[in-house]
Amino acid sequence: MCTTYLATELIREFSEYDIIGNPRLVRLNPNVPWKTRGNGAVSILFGKGQGEKKIIGNIDGEDIWGYYYGASTPSTEADFERACAVVKDLSMFEDEKTNPGIVMYDTKPSERIYWQAVRDIVTQEGLWIITEPKFKRGYKNGRGLIGATAATAWKPRDRTYELIAYREKEKWGTERKIDEASVIAMDKKFYSTFNNYDYEEKHMIIAPSSPCPVLFGIRGDSESILPKAMDLLETEKVDRWLLYLSNQGTDDHIVPKSLGALEPYSSVMTTGMVSKNPAMIAGGHLVFGISSRGKEVDCTIYEPAKKFRDIGMKLRVGDVLTILGGVRERPFTINVEKIHVDSLSPHRIKTSNPICQDCSKAMKSIGRGQGYKCAKCGKKAKEQDAKFEDEIRDLEEKWYEPTTSALRHLAMPLKRMQT
Ligand SMILES: [Zn+2]
Repeated sequence: MCTTYLATELIREFSEYDIIGNPRLVRLNPNVPWKTRGNGAVSILFGKGQGEKKIIGNIDGEDIWGYYYGASTPSTEADFERACAVVKDLSMFEDEKTNPGIVMYDTKPSERIYWQAVRDIVTQEGLWIITEPKFKRGYKNGRGLIGATAATAWKPRDRTYELIAYREKEKWGTERKIDEASVIAMDKKFYSTFNNYDYEEKHMIIAPSSPCPVLFGIRGDSESILPKAMDLLETEKVDRWLLYLSNQGTDDHIVPKSLGALEPYSSVMTTGMVSKNPAMIAGGHLVFGISSRGKEVDCTIYEPAKKFRDIGMKLRVGDVLTILGGVRERPFTINVEKIHVDSLSPHRIKTSNPICQDCSKAMKSIGRGQGYKCAKCGKKAKEQDAKFEDEIRDLEEKWYEPTTSALRHLAMPLKRMQT
């Protein structure tokens, strides 16, 4: 079902343990072809808390506490079976992309596993050579085991938070009641939150469109602000909520690569010069080419990015760009997530044909690239004799990103980059 809802159920099940830190919501490689939509996994550290604690949620009317420090307690087979029962009970096995997996560790697996799973392709065969969970169980093809292990292995460098609020069970599948104006007010009041509202497309992003138990999710840089932001929203009753630590909005999936070294299913940051002017193709996608050291690659801005395509449309041959995006295999193209205009190239556009000096009349083109000829006296002129002026480039040397609702979970919003 919804992996994060499962986390709330696991916390209910294991109420005799303390939670150390926050539950973690970890997004993995967005280019993996067989992933679930958000390619997310959740991990929770249960143990015996020590010292200070903070409220990280509310379930069944009870505050949920997260301890800043604690000791993990050795996991037992009985606990593992209890966890598996919760997973099994809530999984929708009929969906072909639902392949849940659950792992239990007493000590954290190597951080390397996380970086591989967020940037690359990881196979189960390869994974169990590097690490062996104390307990593991995969359902169906068991691919969820990879995400589960990677989420456990995550050691945050950059981090964000997401407060997820859930609906009362009887409302699942019905239309969500969230007052749009209150979302906008919340977004404006709490600057450290992000991806709440799409001002270009005028719709709320905090609520999912699927019939899942999630009412809304508020993302932000400050953990303590998120419950305040929730209080500002006018919505139907929140049944339970939980505050996750997350790698969302961190660009952890991006690896700097030269154009000649791009590999499918990876996400890259690469620099090149526009080598092919932008053109709109079927489906409303925009394609342009960039090149570097003799290697040319297509870049695509897909239709859902909306007005970001207007930015792409203004690119011209000779502009130098830094591009972030996922590499697709077929057709081989970079799915553009962000563009930085490094430099704009002067671009001249023809304003009129040359004038015949004898007849004072505009000459006619002979053919593309072949020059001009006077229709009256037959006098010829070259291509470059036409009148040109510099095109006004309505672009700046800065970052551009798609409309907010088209941003990937892992993509760092410009709002975060600039603060
Ligand atoms: Zn003439």
